[in-house]
Amino acid sequence: MASYIFQYVPDFQSINKLTNATRSMRSENLYADAFVWDAHAGVFPDPAIDLSLLESWRGRGVDYLSINVGFDVMDWQQTLKTLAAYRQWLLTQAGDFVLVGTLEDIEHARQKGKLAVSFDIEGMNALNGDINMLSLYHALGVRQMLFAYNLNNEAAGGCHDTDIGLTDFGRAIVREMNRLGIIVDCSHASLHTTLDIMAESSKPVVFSHSNPDSVWKHQRNILDQQIKACAQTGGVIGLNGLGIFLGENDIKIQTLLKHIGYVADLVGPKHLGIGFDYTPGVKVDISVILSSRPDYWPADQRYDTPEIKHAGPSLLPAIVDGLIGCGFNDSEILGLLGENFRRVASLTWVTP
Ligand SMILES: [Zn+2]
Repeated sequence: MASYIFQYVPDFQSINKLTNATRSMRSENLYADAFVWDAHAGVFPDPAIDLSLLESWRGRGVDYLSINVGFDVMDWQQTLKTLAAYRQWLLTQAGDFVLVGTLEDIEHARQKGKLAVSFDIEGMNALNGDINMLSLYHALGVRQMLFAYNLNNEAAGGCHDTDIGLTDFGRAIVREMNRLGIIVDCSHASLHTTLDIMAESSKPVVFSHSNPDSVWKHQRNILDQQIKACAQTGGVIGLNGLGIFLGENDIKIQTLLKHIGYVADLVGPKHLGIGFDYTPGVKVDISVILSSRPDYWPADQRYDTPEIKHAGPSLLPAIVDGLIGCGFNDSEILGLLGENFRRVASLTWVTP
């Protein structure tokens, strides 16, 4: 397998030259035509949120975005309220945004310059113990679900909790998600939970927004063992843009490339994607929200870092420049930008 890390680590100077001054025609053309998939936005799920903030993706050349309508921190009724509000907003903004359920829908949206959106839910508390809720969520536009949000629930173990693995209820959920055509997402879950999920799933499994722990140690990051198991399912690992998961509150291009390069070296570039977890235009310091619930966001995991930085879609052109500098070829870069996640969806989003 080609080595990306060792090609680019001594080459930061030429990367800087590309990003700061002379963006090559190659990277400009490559990004302009690329199909871009962001597997997870980090917008706080709330019916009152003004979704015009989605312009931050549409205006940056992103074609498809998954936005979260709920997580285990809130109850299932609030998830349904958020779903109702977001669906309504998208229906009233049909000129620029569209709620999608298939890859064909995304293609139609792309041809008209619209941002295609579907939903994800972070944690199975949203089911309220009832597996039938999965098909309801699917019908309402949810196309990706995570099993736990940092803490344990009745389906799975969270990454900041005792590692209980996947429960029998969790196993039944995996099978039902496979049947319905919802992408199985391991981000935020504990080590053994993720290994159990990947063993149970008959479809490719993703970590929509998780970084390699070997590059930066954090309980939200994932071990080589998890990255390899994900690749074996045919899945994809989406690069998370939160500064505390990348380094010392660090979102430098070189740091992003280090995470990308590590995964590429370990399992190959076909398993790379983007899941920035990005929140644009937020007036409050997100560290304030994170430190308000130390059970879900323990302070020893640096969630109390003031002014947490956040890499988002505006950095994509610079990332493409950097990847060219690292020796990635065009099809590998297009894979990371969106084709790899599209491959997973093509194998997953089947009509039951
Ligand atoms: Zn998340």
